[in-house]
Amino acid sequence: MKIGFIGLGHMGAPMAKNLAAAGHGVKGFDTVKVTVEGVETVATMADAVAGMEAIVTMLPNGDIVRRVHETLIDVAEPGRLVIDCSTIDVESARAVHALAEGNGLLSLDAPVSGGTGGAEAGTLTFMVGGSDAAFAKGRPLFEIMGQKAVHCGEAGAGQAAKICNNMILGISMIGVCEAFHLADRLGLDRQAMFDVASTSSGSCWSLNTYCPAPGIGPESPADRGYKPGFAAELMLKDLQLSQEAAEANGAVTKIGRQASDIYARFVEAGGRGQDFSAILEALSGSKG
Ligand code: NAD
Repeated sequence: MKIGFIGLGHMGAPMAKNLAAAGHGVKGFDTVKVTVEGVETVATMADAVAGMEAIVTMLPNGDIVRRVHETLIDVAEPGRLVIDCSTIDVESARAVHALAEGNGLLSLDAPVSGGTGGAEAGTLTFMVGGSDAAFAKGRPLFEIMGQKAVHCGEAGAGQAAKICNNMILGISMIGVCEAFHLADRLGLDRQAMFDVASTSSGSCWSLNTYCPAPGIGPESPADRGYKPGFAAELMLKDLQLSQEAAEANGAVTKIGRQASDIYARFVEAGGRGQDFSAILEALSGSKG
């Protein structure tokens, strides 16, 4: 397949590289000059879209995704597939679908979970919104870039799933960090707290797989000086998206709001660039 890839950043570059390595002809475009193994980087977005059977976008936010789609719909031929893998607000995702479908294109919102490690290894999980026909056409590409693709529903359903999942993640990470903090104050050994909670009803991904306390549990960013991983500012972005969606749709997510506020303070107080699990230090009072 001929594939255009727009947005060759931390995530987009390895995803495009994996598509090329699987034998697809990939043309890539980014506003910043980049080199990606196996990918022909081109000077304009139109060059990366014209004649392509599928166009994948991996961009920072909803405004940019909207602007890029406004340009690419003029160039892409009818019947082509457009997949936006960025994490953006549900409203922008739906607007982009309407724009693409109004111009005869097939459209999917397909945000990912798995981070840069998953992008490099081709083990991302895709959460996908859009028609059955579009999903069927996109599936072979998801199988290269990831290990799982869940068709969540119609336009915007992928983004909805992503922000709900990451609201759980943000809340659960704060919960785990507060439990370690309380354990410290009670004089309870962190290892003992982990051994009990990770095999009891307190078990969750934030504790069992991504433990924020250094030296405890499987290796995680905490053991590498909190080098991301999943950066705190990206967690904040996703929590803010969840709160915008909650407000727009009348959902009551009080703990989600608190989690968003806690991460906003953490990022402002120096957490930017650190893994999101580094919030343990701020919550336990040793930092921030
Ligand atoms: P990034 O900033 O590294 O990459 C974005 C790229 O888009 C940059 O290279 C930038 O130059 C390019 N870009 C911006 N405007 C453009 C335009 N108009 N045309 C073409 N290129 C343009 O960001 P990233 O970490 O790769 O994240 C991309 C998306 O994936 C974001 O929506 C993010 O929330 C999401 N995401 C990131 C992670 C992660 O761990 N990094 C995990 C899951 C989801």
